[in-house]
Amino acid sequence: MVGTIELNQRQEKILAIVKENGPITGEHIADQLNLTRATLRPDLAILTMAGFLEARPRVGYFYTGKNGSQLLSEKVKKIRVHEYASLPVVVSASNSVYDAICTMFLEDVGTLFVIDKHKHLVGVLSRKDLLRASMGKQEIHQIPVNIIMTRMPNITVCKKEDLLIDVALKLMEKQIDSIPVVKETSMDDVFEVIGRVTKTNMTKALVDIACDNLDLQ
Ligand code: ADP
Repeated sequence: MVGTIELNQRQEKILAIVKENGPITGEHIADQLNLTRATLRPDLAILTMAGFLEARPRVGYFYTGKNGSQLLSEKVKKIRVHEYASLPVVVSASNSVYDAICTMFLEDVGTLFVIDKHKHLVGVLSRKDLLRASMGKQEIHQIPVNIIMTRMPNITVCKKEDLLIDVALKLMEKQIDSIPVVKETSMDDVFEVIGRVTKTNMTKALVDIACDNLDLQ
């Protein structure tokens, strides 16, 4: 199965022995399989690292009771925002809608974050926000983005140490494409933008999970 660990026949046999007889030493497992302890070492290492078995010094191996999908789900729930976040693309609140559209094209992103002169997050601009502003009769060279942006405190934010799965849920709940990664300042609800998490980052995480590229213990 994609994403869950596939065990070979010998590893399945080891699991069965430990389930039945654990805690059991490596020596005793080897005896039951008519193999040497050295031959078994790599299999035991894989089963322990993957979380199927636990090894206690002087006691031996015992079965953790977790199946492949439980272990995968535990791994996924350990991924933090900073492992997948991208750099943020920002514009200043006084920039025109026209400038913001140019930045969106040049930087090839779907969402811009708007900052004030202290570099604090004040707004978000999505593709549709800019399209909507361009459809009216207004002069997009003259309108500053702070007139049309979604503004604080209505911005959904996350922190770099948050769990990626929680941010994925926020993206779905709020039906948005991007969430700024922020750092707190000395003032309540005033943030510095340090990154962004988008649906593209989530797709990359999904591919890593499916291809077993996660390097988590
Ligand atoms: P679009 O609809 O342009 O494809 P989104 O779905 O991301 O892009 O944005 C929908 C609306 O939600 C826009 O008005 C945008 O300003 C707002 N928005 C986008 N990201 C956020 C966010 N992190 N927090 C609050 N509002 C947001």
